[in-house]
Amino acid sequence: MSVEETTQKSSASENAWHALDRDDVLQALDTTPDGLSDAQVAERQAEHGPNTVQRNATTSKLAILLHQFTSPLIYVLLIAFGITVFIGHYPDAIVIAAVLLINAVIGFYQEYRAENAMAALANLVSPTARVRRDGEPADVESEKLVPGDIVLLESGSLVPADLRLLSETDLKIEESILTGESAAVSKTIETVSTETVVGDRSNMAHMGSAVTTGRAVGVVVATGADTEIGTIAGQMRETTRAATPLQTRMRHFGNRISIAIVGVSVVVFGIGLLQGIAVTDIFLLAVAIAVAAIPEGLPIVMTVALAVSVARMADRNAIIRRLPAVETLGSCTVILSDKTGTLTENRMTVQQLRVDGSVYTVTGGGDTTEGAIEQNGEPVAIDEASAVYDALRAGVLANESRIRTQTEDNTERIELLGDPTETALLVAGAKVGLHREQLLETTPEIGQIPFESDRQFAATAHKTPDGPQTYFKGAPERIIAMCTDARVNGASEPIDREAILAAAHEMANDGLRVLAVATGAGDRTESESLDGLTLLGLIGMRDPPRNGVPDAIVACHNAGMRVLMVTGDHAATAGAIAKQIGIESDTVLTGADVAALSDEELTEQLQTTSVFARISPTQKLRLTELLQADGEIVAVTGDGVNDAPALKSAHIGAAMGITGTDVAKEASEMVLTDDNFTTIYAAVEEGRTVFANIAKATTFLLSTGVGLVLAFLATFTLTAFGVFAVADDDVFPLLLIPAQVLWLNVVTNGIQDVALAFEPGEPQQYERPPNDPNAGLLSGFLLERTAVAGVLLAVVAVAMFWWQLSTGVSIEYAQTATLTLLVISMALYVGACRSETQSIFEKSLFSNRMLFVGTIAAVAIHIGALYFGPTQFLLGVQPLTTETWLTIGLLAPATLVVVEIHKYIRR
Ligand code: ADP
Ligand code: MG
Repeated sequence: MSVEETTQKSSASENAWHALDRDDVLQALDTTPDGLSDAQVAERQAEHGPNTVQRNATTSKLAILLHQFTSPLIYVLLIAFGITVFIGHYPDAIVIAAVLLINAVIGFYQEYRAENAMAALANLVSPTARVRRDGEPADVESEKLVPGDIVLLESGSLVPADLRLLSETDLKIEESILTGESAAVSKTIETVSTETVVGDRSNMAHMGSAVTTGRAVGVVVATGADTEIGTIAGQMRETTRAATPLQTRMRHFGNRISIAIVGVSVVVFGIGLLQGIAVTDIFLLAVAIAVAAIPEGLPIVMTVALAVSVARMADRNAIIRRLPAVETLGSCTVILSDKTGTLTENRMTVQQLRVDGSVYTVTGGGDTTEGAIEQNGEPVAIDEASAVYDALRAGVLANESRIRTQTEDNTERIELLGDPTETALLVAGAKVGLHREQLLETTPEIGQIPFESDRQFAATAHKTPDGPQTYFKGAPERIIAMCTDARVNGASEPIDREAILAAAHEMANDGLRVLAVATGAGDRTESESLDGLTLLGLIGMRDPPRNGVPDAIVACHNAGMRVLMVTGDHAATAGAIAKQIGIESDTVLTGADVAALSDEELTEQLQTTSVFARISPTQKLRLTELLQADGEIVAVTGDGVNDAPALKSAHIGAAMGITGTDVAKEASEMVLTDDNFTTIYAAVEEGRTVFANIAKATTFLLSTGVGLVLAFLATFTLTAFGVFAVADDDVFPLLLIPAQVLWLNVVTNGIQDVALAFEPGEPQQYERPPNDPNAGLLSGFLLERTAVAGVLLAVVAVAMFWWQLSTGVSIEYAQTATLTLLVISMALYVGACRSETQSIFEKSLFSNRMLFVGTIAAVAIHIGALYFGPTQFLLGVQPLTTETWLTIGLLAPATLVVVEIHKYIRR
């Protein structure tokens, strides 16, 4: 830490907010528990600026630029440059230098843009904070917070600024980002002494730390650079520029090619010397071979293809947070999906009540407070003495959410704020005249046990005329276990647990999500004495499957992926929904079942069981790890803070964009902005497409390399055997000069190569097993194609060259004709590269406009270069006669035709 930072740090600590009383803090910040007014916020924003911490400077531009020169392939080019300068072949030297430069500039630009694009995407899912302003709760971007803002925290929140806590329930915060200590610490609101060090300030919540459980309200005391984390900026979020597995493999591939190139060139050089060829000529041949074999365009194609893919995924609601995930998606074999909100809509509607031995139906739907309670199809009046009223009251009170209704033109608009499970209860309550705010006027809330998935229930305590009373709602098994009595005919009777559980099971079998409600005298939230409760009833709510999910599941199966449902919900509910959406499973395993199985047994079960219910987040992690150990490539969805370990451990963690907590998003590779399961499938499609496109571009590029190296070796051998007759005996028959090879590799092929990265996906890519992450980029089929195309290109090139020379034209003219033939051959052959298996005739010429235009541009540029003075000089080219053009027209389609025949035979 620099001196400057140290002083800044102590100045931040000088404001000893932790040593002040709550009220003094509020006063000092000129705010109230109701929050600031809009005017105050605007004023303070102007004064304090945005609430952001200077992140670690992203990789410097210089580093990105230097990075462009650090591949062995580039080293080979640098050597080639040195040699051409040494032997005085300046046009070649200039072109090699230009290629090095262009390569660096394009590479730099691409990488830089890709990084900015990733940063922009990250902003799309930037954290928000829940605040209270003017007495109303609101969600705002964390960046817009100001000192004095009142912030509401809940489990899963990343603390958005430095806060002094005003109230808290069961609050635990993980502050490792500040203290390095990964265990969560309990917080209180008691004042601590001035000297307390940051890690022990138990009444403060610091920016960047994560709420693991509980709820709290705090007042912002510092924002941005003034926060504790701000003073040690840079550690906040390190940008790791992880190379994707494919990029790494390409790098290794490049290394091997470089060694091979150097080897071949040296051998050719040696033989040439023995043959008595002039040193200059043989040097030039060695350089030309090296340059031909280097796939110069490959790194750029990779970057472009990945960038295109990330953009396409974003269009389809999947925001990539870590680049390697793009590729991993194409290899995904198992998707472990949440049920509620991902496979279903998370639009809950209370439909059934079982109270006092009777079954009631709630009418009217989930988005209106109009509706009635019916029994056997007949409406029943519900008054305050009714058992239904009692049950719904518990559901409305033990609640952290809110609904707001507005009537405009006689139509009611209802706004649901909070957890859908809870708003559904509020809506149902409103149908019988129960409104939480009204109830709180007579029975104020005095304590709370917030809902956490681990706990599976929630409770609130209220002051009533008869003394404190606590209301519970939660998973039936949990609630019923705490009950000793049930309300029957207005009186309490000993509970018949079996009967009630059977009733809950019956409701769940119908696909309903079931909650039990109960009550107990006294404030149970403080004492945590949770037994001896009285059951008030069962509440069943429906959450319809999302549109498109059944289709997406079929598509997943066609693509060789399994879909597992992992939920905290009841086994019967899970089983019923699974059936509706087409997830087949031998049985439904519950958390209790899973806990009883050994790792081996569970791995075995995972082969045939696809539905897991009442699963705790820890068990979700266990399932993920066992699948991974079994060789699967696993994608996991999650939203809660407890999901973070599973999300982190999975190959692809997919966090919910809407309901997901900040902590879950931080832990994930990908964020689904619409929370929708179908989006994961869409991302898998794009992951496969990008992989296929890179393979297509590589095939195209390598074909030229193979073709040219073969052609060079052939001409060299033929010359050695005296087959080639060059009119002027002193001229060495060099097929192409290095500058021409680069022109072909980098310019004309390069344009088409990059355009191949924009190929749209092909349906057959989604109907085969996932990519094997250990297999090479090119399938055996594509390797064959590369060889076939390479041989064809070599044959036509040598034939053309030999025929030209035999007619007695200059070597420059013969080289120009050969180069032009290759350029046109590649422009046609690229059509065959658009699909691994499909024939060229099944592809629309215009479905990849970029490629169509790019190909025409490549040919046009080449023809232009034949007539343009400077390129004539640099490339050693000249205009061709009509006769030569006709020959080219005859020979150029050969490669395309033979490759298509090969495709046809092997299909
Ligand atoms: P999932 O999201 O997979 O459906 P949860 O962990 O959210 O699972 O819920 C598990 C169980 O906890 C539910 O079946 C329900 O009985 C209960 N539950 C869910 N939400 C609440 C809530 N807000 N308050 C009380 N109980 C709840
Ligand atoms: Mg849930």
